Amino acid sequence: MRRLIRNLFLNLAGSVSRPKSGVHIINSHYVHNGILHVEKDKEAFRSFVKLLTKNCELIRIEIAVEMISSGEIVDKPYVAFTFDDGFEECYSVIAPVLEEYDCNAAFFINSNYVEADDVYQKEFHERIKVYNKKPMNWSQIATLLKRGHVIGSHTCDHLDMAQLTDAELEFQLQTNKETLESILDYKCDFFAWPYGQNSHFSELALKKTLKYHKYIFSSSDYKKYFSYLGKVINRRHIEPFWSKFHINFFLAVRKIK
Ligand SMILES: [Zn+2]
Repeated sequence: MRRLIRNLFLNLAGSVSRPKSGVHIINSHYVHNGILHVEKDKEAFRSFVKLLTKNCELIRIEIAVEMISSGEIVDKPYVAFTFDDGFEECYSVIAPVLEEYDCNAAFFINSNYVEADDVYQKEFHERIKVYNKKPMNWSQIATLLKRGHVIGSHTCDHLDMAQLTDAELEFQLQTNKETLESILDYKCDFFAWPYGQNSHFSELALKKTLKYHKYIFSSSDYKKYFSYLGKVINRRHIEPFWSKFHINFFLAVRKIK
């Protein structure tokens, strides 16, 4: 019932909402939560991107981060993309469609999920409550990087960082960064913590993460550009298959520092 009321409210509010001026960084995971059908899903994802271009200018994620970090005043809505967890559709659907629009995304990768065996994949899917998905392989991730996308860290195993000890945090951060950097031969400046809410990121986790990464992203507190005293950039969680009214409503936010 609560869900129904929420949907009704969002449909109503969203039908009169338009994205507000500002730099909107979207956080998604996949095109939809079912089994992948590449050509059909490309069409669906294209419609989502097209919907955004109606009211927003698409920009590369590095530009969005630069605009937010420098405090640039903007007079229209800009949108940039990020995708967490590294599912295969990032390579086969999402990146090719964004490239049609001369745009890119940041993809946040858990290195132990990449090319993992079935047992590990099953555990990983249980942790994130997502099924019917497969990870990208290293060659696909390397190709995304070569094609101008950003590869960020999402820790090795997608655990709740607020629950980890000092040594476990160190391991999750350092090993994932080193693995990504040694396999892909680049510098990993971007980091998004698993689950994205502030309740999953302790002060200790923040302190440790700052040692390894220049840019840290949440998926909460979207009305503000920054959290944790300016050290974290906030993203808005939106999945491409959500109702366009909901998407418009979520981006109709006048963002503050
Ligand atoms: Zn995640």
